[in-house]
Amino acid sequence: TDHIASVHRRRRLGVMGGTFDPIHHGHLVAASEVASRFHLDEVVFVPTGQPWQKSHRDVTPPEDRYLMTVIATASNPQFSVSRADIDRPGQTYTTDTLRELRQQHPDADLFFITGADALGQILTWRDAGELFALAHFIGVTRPGHPLTDPGLPDGGVSLVEVPALAISSTDCRDRVAAGEPVWYLVPDGVVRYINKRELYRTPPVQTS
Ligand code: ATP
Ligand code: MG
Repeated sequence: TDHIASVHRRRRLGVMGGTFDPIHHGHLVAASEVASRFHLDEVVFVPTGQPWQKSHRDVTPPEDRYLMTVIATASNPQFSVSRADIDRPGQTYTTDTLRELRQQHPDADLFFITGADALGQILTWRDAGELFALAHFIGVTRPGHPLTDPGLPDGGVSLVEVPALAISSTDCRDRVAAGEPVWYLVPDGVVRYINKRELYRTPPVQTS
């Protein structure tokens, strides 16, 4: 019966959504820690298409963000990258992402991983109620953002402390624009890709 149980065990699939502009070690340590604590079989990183919250700034082309995410995760057998959001036309909504992943992985339970800052905004997302039927939500600690349950449905969300890395993509972009190093904030291959493609060279234009 052990054999039968293992054959029928549902896979546990982590989902790490983000703009990843660029991906950094804060994203990677969060995914790794949650995978370990929640016994996930795999974590799929899903770079957003055009993120509706960030339409005020020019986001780096999806293909560059996708490739940086692949470079950063390629050596980890538990990590993979999905093109679901960048290949879907229009703006990215997490309900669409989760519905698509459920169709692709009917045998899996989904665990959506999100930082403390994003967790607080979830209730403002489109179809917020449906989100919790599609996946279990895991909020992770992030320096500078208090981790509290912002009134999410009972049992729909877990809060997890992960090693604190005070790194943000915004800071990485600003550093490159200012000629400061991003070594050790992002994986080496991502530093090299940023240089090769000359990303983030110009300071962001303030539009608001
Ligand atoms: P930006 O500054 O452009 O918003 P970011 O660093 O916040 O970039 P995102 O791509 O927006 O990165 O984040 C994707 C997910 O990773 C979000 O859920 C976010 O809360 C989480 N996250 C980002 N950085 C960290 C970090 N240092 N520690 C824990 N979680 C993080
Ligand atoms: Mg962010």
